[in-house]
Parts: sequence; structure tokens; C-alpha cells
Amino acid sequence: MNIEFQTAGLLLCLLLFILYVTQKRLGLYSEKIFFSMLVVSILLLIADIGSVAAIVLRGRLPAGFVHAVCKLYIFLLALEAGMAALYILVDVADGLRYRIVLRVASCAAAVIQGLTVFLLPVFIFQESRAVYTFGPCATAGYLFGGFYLLLAVLALFFARRQIYPRRRLAFSIWMFLWVCAVILQFRNNRLLVVGFSVALGMAILYILLENPEGDLNPEYGCFNALALEKYGASLSRRRKKICFAFVLFDPVLESTGLGIRALLEKCRPRRKILVFRVMDFDFLLLTEDAAEFEALLQWMRNEIDGVLSGSFVSYFCNGKSWTPGSVRLQDILEALPYYKTKIKEKGGQKITELPADMLEEYTLRKRMVAEIRDALNENRVEVFFQPIHALPSRQVVSAEALVRIRARDGSLIPPSHFIPVAESTGSIGEIGERVLDETCRFLSEIGVLSAGLHHIEVNLSVVQCEREDLAARLSAIFRRRNTAPQTVNLEITETGTVHTKQTLLRNMRALIAEGCTFSLDDFGKGESNLMYLVEMPVSIVKMDYDLTKAFFHEEKARRVVTAVVRLAHELGLSVVAEGIEEEEELQAMEKLGVDFIQGYYFSRPLPEAEFFAYVQEHTVKKENT
Ligand code: C2E
Ligand code: CA
Ligand code: CA
Repeated sequence: MNIEFQTAGLLLCLLLFILYVTQKRLGLYSEKIFFSMLVVSILLLIADIGSVAAIVLRGRLPAGFVHAVCKLYIFLLALEAGMAALYILVDVADGLRYRIVLRVASCAAAVIQGLTVFLLPVFIFQESRAVYTFGPCATAGYLFGGFYLLLAVLALFFARRQIYPRRRLAFSIWMFLWVCAVILQFRNNRLLVVGFSVALGMAILYILLENPEGDLNPEYGCFNALALEKYGASLSRRRKKICFAFVLFDPVLESTGLGIRALLEKCRPRRKILVFRVMDFDFLLLTEDAAEFEALLQWMRNEIDGVLSGSFVSYFCNGKSWTPGSVRLQDILEALPYYKTKIKEKGGQKITELPADMLEEYTLRKRMVAEIRDALNENRVEVFFQPIHALPSRQVVSAEALVRIRARDGSLIPPSHFIPVAESTGSIGEIGERVLDETCRFLSEIGVLSAGLHHIEVNLSVVQCEREDLAARLSAIFRRRNTAPQTVNLEITETGTVHTKQTLLRNMRALIAEGCTFSLDDFGKGESNLMYLVEMPVSIVKMDYDLTKAFFHEEKARRVVTAVVRLAHELGLSVVAEGIEEEEELQAMEKLGVDFIQGYYFSRPLPEAEFFAYVQEHTVKKENT
């Protein structure tokens, strides 16, 4: 019997089947089609062998049975070609809508093809090893098969740029094999190689594309980053609601790998939870089953004192912390480095659960980073000036330069929205220098000094103060703008480490030598250290807004403020009270002996032109009285 090729093909397909079902898989749509194709191939080869046997033995078998087996073979052959076309088209047709169209069209085609093949008559030819079927049924089957094959080849050709090169290669070899086999068998009906070419095609797809081994991490047996990429791409098309959690293990605590193994062990029986190793110690758990997911999270929370060490952040498809449709896997992956910095900030030893709205925080931050960059490039960084009045004269003597970003729609973005971001990305250096530059330009162009101002105060960020070349950079600006450093007073806040303090001290001395003066800003906020006042060569102390406010509400604060003013004066320093909004507050500060007042009582920070007008008006008033 002429069944050698088919038997070899069947064995090959069975081997592939065993390899495939015993491996972990992602459950992608293309995987499902591949698996269906593998099953159809096995059935096709069985029907192929069966039909040859039935034809040879037709004398001893009922004619209806022989015809049914032959028709089944023809039907399966066309079906296999149809599935091949579908497998390629799914790759080409992006988007859910087309997917549904493809599904409906392929089901309809299978039904029409089934009815046609099984209703039309089939005829049989056999002469020693030459075996074939002919007649209307066979013609219809071959037409269907030929049409699908043509569709697959055309899709492959016209959408070649849309298909990944590796997939394109696999599809091309596969289709080439089939076309060769069809031609060969058609020209020599003793060579029944079509069935074998189907099996060979499956083997090529398996080796090049569908081998689940390539998606697995050999060390832990979970999925790898490549698999995640594939899965992520399929998600963006499927728009599925999924729950996911990032588990970021601590590299030091996790050196034994105990926690990772415990987690994987826990996930193993839960087949619906996919585990990906994103990076060395970063894992992603992903599932469509919210109940399973919640159970796993609960287990992680309970393991706080157990083997698990690290952090996790979780997103629910239907939980309170997640708005459906708003979180994409790609966003989460992109935010990974941000989560890591947050974990470092938290410094947790055991398990830390990060809030799920951290992604929103990250997105806002990302937008702000772009806004800052664009504002710097498009010159939308503006400087406002808030007048500072002396006591008891109440005359404007200086001002504080305060930065703003002018959004594209003309609105103003306050510093509280962008300074923390700029400090973390380092762009605060450029912003700070821009503010100093603008201030120097303003000082030299408009001549506010001749209008009676002593100086303008410019804020220095901690990040700027950490730079070794701070003094050199600022001096360059003074020189470029031809501004006397005496007209600028720099505001510093307390910095953390001893090293940065030493660096800052060196820079301060260099700038003081050129004529600059310094203020200690936000004094009394957070963990203020009195020694800072002693060690840093500042000439002004700016009392923090909160401390000034507390003065009016708390007895203890009143004593602290009184002591601070006295202490500052004993050290030969002037005192500025910030945030003065009422006449009574002003009088209380005056009584205490505070030297300068900055606050809404006099004025909010003003744009350059308004500030200039303000200074002129107040100076004129003074001259008139
Ligand atoms: P700061 O240096 O303590 O500046 C004083 C802040 O208090 C300003 O807020 C000012 O508008 C506000 N303020 C003044 N008087 C009153 C008042 O009577 N009531 C109330 N409620 N607020 C008052 P602003 O301009 O929003 O700046 C906030 C912070 O942003 C500044 O606090 C400073 O830390 C930072 N900043 C502003 N400009 C710069 C800059 O050019 N460089 C750096 N590094 N930081 C800046
Ligand atoms: Ca300030
Ligand atoms: Ca302040």
C-alpha cells in the first residue's frame, strides 16, 4: 500500500503533538490556531492513510464507507489549507474587528466547504501504486484548497512588511513546501507527498515559531521577557481585561532564591496565572481570573514575615484602584524603573505593597518631565518677583525671584508641580540657572537698584548646591549679564550629607568673595539644625511659612520664633518672615524685631513688568509722604 509518506508524516505530527501539549504555553490566539492545525493535520494524515487503505480494500468494504472516507480526506485537506490561510491572516489583520470578521468568515467557509464536499459525488482511481480521487467532489475540494493557498500566498506577499522577518521566513518555507508537494503529487500520482508536506510544514512552524521552549526561562521554568513581549502585543489587540502584579525581589535578600521559588511553587498549580521573569529579580504575575489573583495577593501579604522579600504592586481589572481600560501592560512595564526608585525610597526590608495609583503618579510625572523639557526649549520658563519690605519703614527693599512655567495654553504652572520632578531628573540645574540669568538681565536692563532695591533673592536647589562647579557656573552668568554679584542674594536650604555641605561651603566662600550674600531659607521646617546657622556663612534667615503661621496659634511655636529671632540677631543675621498675610501678623512680627516681611499682605509674586511698576509706585509714594 502506498502509505509510507503519510505514515512518516503522522508519526512526526504525533511527536510534535506530544512535545506541544506537555509544555507550558501563553494561550495566545495564534497558538490556538497552531494547535488546531496540528490536530487537523493528525486527522488529515489518518484520513489519508484510511482513504488509501479503503480504496485498495474497496472490494471488501461498503461503497458508501469508502466514499465517506475519501470525502473526509478531501474535506480535511481543504480545511488544513484554510487554517493555514487563517494563521497567516491573523498575523496580518490587526485589531479586534478584523479578528471577528476572520472568525466568522472562516466558520462560514468551513460549513460551505463541508456541505459541498460531502454532497457532491466522488470517483476513485487506482492502478497499483497510483491512487487518486476525481469527480465533482474532488474538484470542489481542490478548488477550495487552491483558493486558500492562493489567499495565504497573496497575504504573505502583500503584507510582507507587516510580518516579523522570522515569521515571514517560516511562512514562506511552509508555503513553498506545500506548493512543491501539490505540484509533485499532481504530476506523479504515485508520489503521495501532500500529507507528508503538511507534517513537515507543522515541524517548521514548531521549530521556528511555536516551540514553547523559546518562551520559557530555563532557570525557573516560568515565562521569559520574550514571551511577555509576545503576550503584550496580543493584549493590545485583544483589549482584554487583566489583573497583574509586579513582584520586585530584593537582590540582596533574594540571593538564595528562596522567595522566588516559593512564589513560583505557589503559582504552579494555578494554571490561569502566568508568571514572567522580566529581569533578574523582577517578576510579573498576570491573569484574567480576578478571584485567583486576589487569593495569590492575599498569600503574598500574609508572607510578610515568611520567605518572601521584596515589593509588589498590583492592578485589578475590577478592583477599586483600577479603572478598566486605563492601565496597559506596556505602561506598567515602562514604569518599572520608577517603581524601583520608589521602593528604594521606602527602604522596606520585607514586603512592601506599592499603591496602585503609582502608575498615575508616574504618568503625571512623565508628562511633567516632557513639559519641563519643552518649556526650557521654547522659552516658557518665566520669573515672577515677590516684593520684600523692610520693617519698620515698610519700604520695598528687595524681592524673591520665583519661577513659573507658562503652559502652551497660557496658564501658569506653579513650582510645587514641577520643582520636585525637575529635582529628580536634574533639570532643576538648568531651571535655576535660567532664573538667575533672567534675574540678572532684569537687574541690568531695568535698573531696579536705582529704584531703591538692595538686591534680588534667587533660590538655589539642593541639587545645584551639590555641584562642585556651582560657583564657576553662577559667576559665568554674572559676567555674561554684566551684573554685580552684590545685587543677588542666594537662598539655600539645608542639605543632607556632610560631603555636600563641604562642597557647598567651598562654593559659598568663592561666591562671597565675589560679593554675593546668602540666606538660609525655610528655617524651622522639617529637621532644621541650629548648627547649620552656625556653620554656614549666611547673612539672612528666612523663617519658614509654617513656623510663622504656628506662631499665631501655638504657645510653643511663639517661644521658638521669639528665640530664633533673638538668636539670629545675636549672630548678626537679619530675619525675614515669610507668609505674612494680615496687618496683625505684620504688627506681631514688627514687635518681635523681624527685619523683613514677605507675604501676600504686601503683594503676591508679580510678573516682571508689574513688579517694576509696583516698585516705582511704592518708591514714589514714599517720596511724596
Ligand atoms: P519658597 O522659596 O519658600 O518661596 C516662597 C513661597 O511662598 C512662594 O511660593 C510664594 O508665592 C509663597 N508665599 C509668599 N508669601 C505668601 C503668603 O503670604 N501666603 C502664602 N500662602 N504663600 C506665600 P511659590 O512661588 O509657589 O514657590 C514655592 C516654592 O518653590 C518656593 O518656596 C521654592 O522652594 C520653590 N521655588 C520657586 N522658585 C524657585 C527657583 O527659581 N528655584 C528653586 N530651586 N526653587 C524655586
Ligand atoms: Ca525661597
Ligand atoms: Ca521659604
